[in-house]
Amino acid sequence: MPAMSRPQEALQTVLEAMKRAARDAERPEARLLAVSKMQPAEAVAALAGSGQSAFGENYVHEATAKIAKLAELGAAGLEWHLIGHLQSNKCREAAENFDWVQSLDREKLVEALNRFRPATLPPLNVLIQVNVDGEVGKSGCAPMAIAMLAESVARAPRLLLRGLMAIPEPSPDIEQRRCGFQAMLGYFDSLRAQWSSVDTLSMGMSEDFAVAIAEGATMVRVGSALFGPRR
Ligand SMILES: *Cc1c(COP(=O)(O)O)cnc(C)c1O
Repeated sequence: MPAMSRPQEALQTVLEAMKRAARDAERPEARLLAVSKMQPAEAVAALAGSGQSAFGENYVHEATAKIAKLAELGAAGLEWHLIGHLQSNKCREAAENFDWVQSLDREKLVEALNRFRPATLPPLNVLIQVNVDGEVGKSGCAPMAIAMLAESVARAPRLLLRGLMAIPEPSPDIEQRRCGFQAMLGYFDSLRAQWSSVDTLSMGMSEDFAVAIAEGATMVRVGSALFGPRR
């Protein structure tokens, strides 16, 4: 998709494509997470000005600075999601600054995020990241580890278990990705049957969000289709 000069136009195009994908597949509409990593605060402010409220960032430190900058720019009520790999030494900063962490993939992070989530804030919304294709060296837990991790998150008083996130292998073959999305929907349905707080399946990016929605995504994470190529 070409970069568009006006963020409103790109936003409308993506939102319409999302609506169409949901309607065609007879799925509920999905939520849009605008992925603003490597984009300046001004670009976020422009999109926020067009009505977009949820933003995703990959790097805790970059995000913390940007969140402060947005507050200075007067953009209120934004919702920040951490979608990048989380190191345990960044848990405090993450728990203090984000509304959601989508990349929880191991037990150690449960305890740390729970401990550092300030009592003055609502519980931190958590998605468990799943390495759905079993790619070596990639973030995300194995599918068979979902149930135990979910139980730990659900028991942590300062965390709220909301669902699952995945980044299927970026195969050029869209049908290959579809398999990953279908597997994720299966895991999501089992989890939802067990925990009433679970309502979010985060999958699909600029290239494949329509396929992800057709396969049951409730949230898509879109960067370059909104902001143009990352600088
Ligand atoms: C960068 C990123 C995205 C967005 O990717 P685009 O292809 O630019 O839409 C989504 N999810 C994660 C986890 C990312 O790191």
